[in-house]
Amino acid sequence: MLPFAILLAAALQQPAAYQQPEPPLRQASSVQSPTPNRRRTALDTGYARLVREATTDPRFLPQAVATLPASESVPSPLKYFGSIAGAPGVMHHTKDIYAYFRALARATPRVRVDSIATTEEGRQIILVVIADEQTMHSIDHYKALMRRLADPRTLPADSAEAVIGEAKPIYYLNGGLHSPEMGSPEMLTELAYRLAVGDDSTDAMIRSRVITIINPVSEPDGRDKQVDWYLHYTKGRPKFDDGFPRSSPFWGRYVLHDNNRDGLQISQALTKAIFDIYYDWHPLVMHDLHESVPLLYVSTGTGPYNVNNDPIIIGQWQVLANNDITTLSAAGLPGVWTWAFFDGWWPGYGMWVANNHNAVGRFFETFGNAGGDTYLRDLSGERYAGAPVTSREWYRSWPPTKEVYWSSRDNVNYQETGVLASLTYAATNASTMLHDFYQVGVNSLARGRTETPHAYVIPGFARQRDPRRVAYLVNQLERQHIEIDRRTAGDSAGDFVIRLDQPYRDLAVNLLSTQSYPSTAQYPPYDDIAWTLGALYGVQVHAVNDTSVFHWTDLERLADTVAYRGAVRGAGPVYLLAYRAQSEVLPALFHLRERDRAATAAVAEHAFVVGQDSFPAGSVIIERAPAGAAKEIADRWGLPLVSADRVPNVQRHAVDLPRIAVYHSWYDTQDAGWSRYTFDQLGIPYTSIDKDDLRRGALRKRFDVILVPNMNGSLDRMINGVDRDFGPLPFEKTSATPNLGTPFSSPDITGGPGFAGLEALRAFVDDGGELITLETSTRLAAESGIAAELSPHPTRTLFHPGSVVRVRMRHASPILYGFPDTTTVFRGNAPLFEVPPRDSAMLILQYGTKLPEATDTGAIMGEPNKAAPPRDSTAKSKKHGSEEPYVVSGMVRGEDEIIGQGAIFDVPVRKGHVVAFTFDPLHRYLNHHEFPMVWNAIINWNVVPPRSTQ
Ligand SMILES: [Zn+2]
Repeated sequence: MLPFAILLAAALQQPAAYQQPEPPLRQASSVQSPTPNRRRTALDTGYARLVREATTDPRFLPQAVATLPASESVPSPLKYFGSIAGAPGVMHHTKDIYAYFRALARATPRVRVDSIATTEEGRQIILVVIADEQTMHSIDHYKALMRRLADPRTLPADSAEAVIGEAKPIYYLNGGLHSPEMGSPEMLTELAYRLAVGDDSTDAMIRSRVITIINPVSEPDGRDKQVDWYLHYTKGRPKFDDGFPRSSPFWGRYVLHDNNRDGLQISQALTKAIFDIYYDWHPLVMHDLHESVPLLYVSTGTGPYNVNNDPIIIGQWQVLANNDITTLSAAGLPGVWTWAFFDGWWPGYGMWVANNHNAVGRFFETFGNAGGDTYLRDLSGERYAGAPVTSREWYRSWPPTKEVYWSSRDNVNYQETGVLASLTYAATNASTMLHDFYQVGVNSLARGRTETPHAYVIPGFARQRDPRRVAYLVNQLERQHIEIDRRTAGDSAGDFVIRLDQPYRDLAVNLLSTQSYPSTAQYPPYDDIAWTLGALYGVQVHAVNDTSVFHWTDLERLADTVAYRGAVRGAGPVYLLAYRAQSEVLPALFHLRERDRAATAAVAEHAFVVGQDSFPAGSVIIERAPAGAAKEIADRWGLPLVSADRVPNVQRHAVDLPRIAVYHSWYDTQDAGWSRYTFDQLGIPYTSIDKDDLRRGALRKRFDVILVPNMNGSLDRMINGVDRDFGPLPFEKTSATPNLGTPFSSPDITGGPGFAGLEALRAFVDDGGELITLETSTRLAAESGIAAELSPHPTRTLFHPGSVVRVRMRHASPILYGFPDTTTVFRGNAPLFEVPPRDSAMLILQYGTKLPEATDTGAIMGEPNKAAPPRDSTAKSKKHGSEEPYVVSGMVRGEDEIIGQGAIFDVPVRKGHVVAFTFDPLHRYLNHHEFPMVWNAIINWNVVPPRSTQ
């Protein structure tokens, strides 16, 4: 409850009592205008008055944004929209924001709008370019200069000086990435106007010395849903923390917040656009604008920092942060700080495209209200790096008060003033920043020549378990602009070679080496801590610690992406596919069924040999398929086939391709989105279902397999979903909410599946269905009693941030077909589960290679004196000395608590079964190596494990 006195006090600070701040004190780092005699344009006093009225405290309104230049010919946000940026209650859809920038571009030659890309839902992504007329006229020339600085191999140091003397820093501002952080697209309209028309020293200097490029709404699909959500649902709600969901349940078609965790996959249209912009412009800085931390956090991070970023880059984070804090403090803004949020380790954030390519990636977190409303916000519970955000620290010398009365305009003031400070720094330190960028490239190149490794070799298709993943790895590295050669001669022909004497050497090492995160790190990591691509994709990669690699003569530069295609060998009527857990098998089988109804497939339950060829368990036997279909499977899906005269004599079961449902909740849709993305990429057909499908029941009539992707929360949350008290809450396309209802709609997103939904899930499994649960969603099967043998396994000290770890098969199962007995998976912090000893056969894959101790208790009282057989022949312990380390890449604390615990369980339930993962094998489209564990569960859904106890 809000004390009335506070509200009243806040109201009294409103415009009526407003005093102008101290006489204009320009930003500390501003310098003399290059054209000091320029006539100053008139100021738009009406705009300034509205800004003052929308600002809740004079201390939140620095001079830099307290005024706005007037223009006869160029429309201000007020002229165009009828309201200032950050006006109370106002939020604009993408098309309106874009229309404003296009109006600016029509009105002044200092602004240009480029169309960059189209999103999954068909919206445009644009880039706004701002500079003075001379610069705009020669914009391609300035881009070319940056391209030259990016490659020191073709630009020796003596020539570099001339290029640096001529080049201009390009500064890339990225807005609207996280949809409920709604202020930046609005702020950027005002910033662009100011930079285009302002004639005061700062504006003119930035315009003439810096090329500012702006992606104003980098997630347009989410922006438009969120604006509808705000205008229709959250606008006018009297309290901010009232439990009502502030975010639309969906942003883009697939992911929400993870749109900023896509820099290694480059999977979503918005990430592809960010990368295209980066490679086209080579900006010195990519600056991402977020709004989740009070009042303005300027990124550096607590560390540990990524060990492969050049020290110059890490130094630039500090320099820019301290510039911004000092400038904003001088301008009178409280609550600006650095360090204690975020770490600086994981390289897959959107802005890391810059850090990974020798430039500077950084971000602001300002404080947003997820809309245009003004709220009294309670900061007393917010802590970062162990300290309240209101405490005075070395990195936060002027903290905010425990409560702040905060408006949308306050957020705009902070963000815009901060960005102006950064741009001013770039304008006044252009030469240093350009030198630094060039030098990082020089350093990276030199490290490749003088330090190990000097190269990486990715053995060719023929020498790897899954050639399609090899092609994927090579292509992903190419998308990161890492140069790759292919060997053309001798035994090594076909191997891929990444020589590290190249400008993006640091990135290649970052992506291909293992991570050793310091176990002594004082603060928990911000996200995953390992990303070794070879391990995530199941591809062998070898480091070459020998400079002779620079003299290999049989290297041929790859000019394009690579593809692996298989062939059909022989001419018999039966086709055999050696199964090595290739992701393409499942979609190929679906395709075959569509193409030729008469064709059949079976899965061999044991290894077999035909002629010279050996086929492991899980291999596929195809009959009655025309030769054309076989050729297509081999060629299009990269699955080589051996034809035979007859079906080999091996125990097998028929493939009966299932009807698949993929479930999503309405309170945590993201990992279900990644799962859908994975299915869509591979072309695996499925039906998306939600709580209402579960409630309606009769699931077995519609589906054979139900996949519940990872979702967070307790069992309570999984059952009850979004708070019923807020219902009915439609997520539907209507004239009032034209952007809601995609990718899925619901007349009421509140309530969850409820107990009726749970009962329907149990009936589905009882009746022969297969329920697959991933990571935390395993709670839904275990804690509800659907899989009664599964129960939570508590841990005390285990700390398991996302790392690549070793796992070992405990019991042979179709779910592990194609995988070696010991392999790796990616695992993050998530609950563990266990089965009672009598049901140990349900544990098919365990963490670590060390098996549990055999229950050898020595002599047994009362037992006749004889040599007893081992009690559990499957759990015989090997000698421990030879165990391989549990962690392959990353770090785990308290690993003794997880070694031997279950990674995958297969639990029979009446006629069906539950396949429960305690890690997420479909994590962010990253761990391709583990995807086939899910495909195995789907292909072999009708193989129900025998009950160990009857
Ligand atoms: Zn954010």
